[in-house]
Amino acid sequence: MLLRHTSKEILERKALMINPAKTCQPIGAMYAALGVHGCMPHSHGSQGCCSYHRSTLTRHYKEPVVAGTSSFTEGSSVFGGQSNLIQAIDNMFTIYEPEVIAVHTTCLSETIGDDLTQIVKKAYDDGKVPAGKHVIYAPTPSYVGSHVTGFSNMCKGIVNGFSEKTGEKRNQINILPGYVEPADMEEIKRLTTEMGIETVMFPDTSGVMNGPQTGRYHMFPKGGTTVDELKSTGDSMGTIALGSFASSLAAKFLDTKFKVPCQIQELPIGLPATDRFINSLRKMAGVNVPDSITRERGQLVDVMTDMAQYFYGKKVALFGDPDQLIALTEFLVSLDMIPVHIVTGTPGKEFTAKILELTKDQSEPVNVKAHGDMFLLHQWIKNTSVDLLIGNTYGKYIARDEDIPFVRHGFPIMDRVGHSYFPTVGYKGGLRLVEKMLDAMLDKKDRDSPEESFELVL
Ligand code: SF4
Repeated sequence: MLLRHTSKEILERKALMINPAKTCQPIGAMYAALGVHGCMPHSHGSQGCCSYHRSTLTRHYKEPVVAGTSSFTEGSSVFGGQSNLIQAIDNMFTIYEPEVIAVHTTCLSETIGDDLTQIVKKAYDDGKVPAGKHVIYAPTPSYVGSHVTGFSNMCKGIVNGFSEKTGEKRNQINILPGYVEPADMEEIKRLTTEMGIETVMFPDTSGVMNGPQTGRYHMFPKGGTTVDELKSTGDSMGTIALGSFASSLAAKFLDTKFKVPCQIQELPIGLPATDRFINSLRKMAGVNVPDSITRERGQLVDVMTDMAQYFYGKKVALFGDPDQLIALTEFLVSLDMIPVHIVTGTPGKEFTAKILELTKDQSEPVNVKAHGDMFLLHQWIKNTSVDLLIGNTYGKYIARDEDIPFVRHGFPIMDRVGHSYFPTVGYKGGLRLVEKMLDAMLDKKDRDSPEESFELVL
């Protein structure tokens, strides 16, 4: 009994969160920055924050994450961190030679009121930014939002720092992939290439956070969206923003600033959302969907149909990031499963509305909470048990206590590998999710079956 103090009785809590279903803003900002080629993230705050952010990313991706810190001391905590940041920018360009430094704030520097726009301008004015190099930035106060908000803010920072408009339209589509795995970004690129569409995807952590072992350490791996690609985004014919919480801010900013029209849609997880994504690409680029993609779709439909009896009516609890949960919920409903408890740690009323809309026709009511915590999720499960739990590593305690099949999905996953290499977006990603859910549920069925119904064949 790891969570032995979780009670069945639910009391209203206003000022207390227990085991939040989120991490802090700068982690998302750091992850987004790593998706820019040659970029070194920089944490404007204390060393402790930066260590936590780096270690969380390293534990999830199993890759070293390098980042600078302004190393606030008592003095900078009182008088502001301008001189620390300018010194850090100078040192980092001199010693590590990144193409780009992406600065994000922390609770501390935000509370002091450090103005990144002014400090970064001063760094340029003082000649601390070598010719051809760049400093971009985003405010990421972690006492609001979550790592998803930080990711979203840094995506806007990337647009603010690089996007340009030359007036000459380019036959390319911008894609904001959302807060997804490097494998998902790779899969999105594979699908667009298969359709013969030119894209600029940003950020793009594929090849950075899931690179190969070459025997040599590269502080700045080959992957990531290049500065030239980022500059060209103001000339693209449109933007597809995947995941409203993570991507809409940057897409709308690009639209307002450079009149690049944007479509905001769900992450392409599962059949219906992937269909919409492929359709949007088809329409925006004016191309046909190749047979190879139609075949992938058919394979997913085939497995969904063949295994329908094992999915039908199964109750699911899920927690994690809002964009992931919205897409997952739609997928589960399309499989005739019943999502009954859904919690995200990220605030946002639109999340609740969207989940209620997606589940309105199901046979059981849904418990849904934005800015919620894992304690509440566990209480809900104690009141209405489920057949499957989906979420990040922290769900393993509930899964073990309640003996629920558990599928790890989302961020962070610190006790398994695979998530960086195998996508869950697209039709192939849908197949992987179906496989993982079936494996988890059928393993339990096999484990618990009495001998007379312990079947060899499905
Ligand atoms: S919540 Fe604030 S103080 Fe804590 S690690 Fe994140 S940025 Fe630092």
